Amino acid sequence: LSGEVRGVEHDHTGRMAALRGALAARGADAFLVAHLPNIFYLCGFAGSAGVLLVTAGEADFFTDARYAIEAPAIVRAARVHIARKGVVAELAARLRRRKQCVAFESAHTIVEQQAQIARAAGRGVRWLPTSGLVEDLRIVKDVAELAVIRAAGDIAVDVFDEVVHLVRPGMRESDLAAEIEYRMKRKGAAGPSFPTIVASGLRSALPHARASEKRLMKNELVVLDLGAILRGYSSDITRTVFVGRAPARIRGWYQAVLEAQRAARVALRAGVTAGKVDEAARRVLRKKRLDRYFVHSTGHGLGIEVHEPPRLGRGVGQKLRLGSVVTIEPGVYVEGTGGIRIEDDFLVCNGEAEILTRGVRELVEL
Ligand code: ZN
Ligand code: ZN
Repeated sequence: LSGEVRGVEHDHTGRMAALRGALAARGADAFLVAHLPNIFYLCGFAGSAGVLLVTAGEADFFTDARYAIEAPAIVRAARVHIARKGVVAELAARLRRRKQCVAFESAHTIVEQQAQIARAAGRGVRWLPTSGLVEDLRIVKDVAELAVIRAAGDIAVDVFDEVVHLVRPGMRESDLAAEIEYRMKRKGAAGPSFPTIVASGLRSALPHARASEKRLMKNELVVLDLGAILRGYSSDITRTVFVGRAPARIRGWYQAVLEAQRAARVALRAGVTAGKVDEAARRVLRKKRLDRYFVHSTGHGLGIEVHEPPRLGRGVGQKLRLGSVVTIEPGVYVEGTGGIRIEDDFLVCNGEAEILTRGVRELVEL
């Protein structure tokens, strides 16, 4: 499995070319990339500090001495500069050379830092705030990315299949979460894409509960939301199980959530709006009078970040594109009783969406 992924090479040169097209269309001479997931996408740098400057003919990546050995080995399609005098100073020295318009990522820029760079770069630079330039490219996954995302999905599903047999009354949520994250790493993941959620009993009604010291008990719902990072890409799945035999009311809710997921999956295809997919899931729950318990969006984009565009939310007019990867994760959360969520990852196609995370979606009773 990881063998298939090991040989995957990303087309950084092609991505840089696409970005240059977007830059030219905005009339900018250069683009300053500050958001680390965007830097990873464009040049493969996976560390925690650095900025990338892209012009029509060149790309320069500035980082500090901690990455002096690693950066030149992993960065593609850009020249690496180890900034001994500080990233801001060396970047500014580069920008001062000529009068130019430099676009920057306003959604990912710290005001203080940008002011510092602008001061150091001087008056010859005109700054152009932009948003979503690289994210718009990232929204459509290429073959190499899909191979990695698929493998990350396999890890999540395999881990769930293993740990579901460990679930028993008396076990702490945090112990189950630890088992999940340990097994992901043993399967080649760099780690979890987010802190693993294990939420049992009344806590399962909290959509974003983290695993706690609480022990699992008989006759409780348990929501497990987990994802693995593999070679910089994330997966994200949720399964809900019942410890014991589920009462009819709980089974009814579970079937409704499963049906909502199915309806959204049928609606999901290239060209439809994100809001329409959300509405398909919501409509099913509305018919069963459960829609008021569905308190979040139906899904989100998935890739280098575990939450990225497009968002499958109520009324979102953005049209879905061929090659996007999204989650579909309807849920119901009833205070005082518990919650149910079912989440899988899908590839947006021209016809029916392809499911990237196989596995059993029927209610598992333990
Ligand atoms: Zn999730
Ligand atoms: Zn999710």
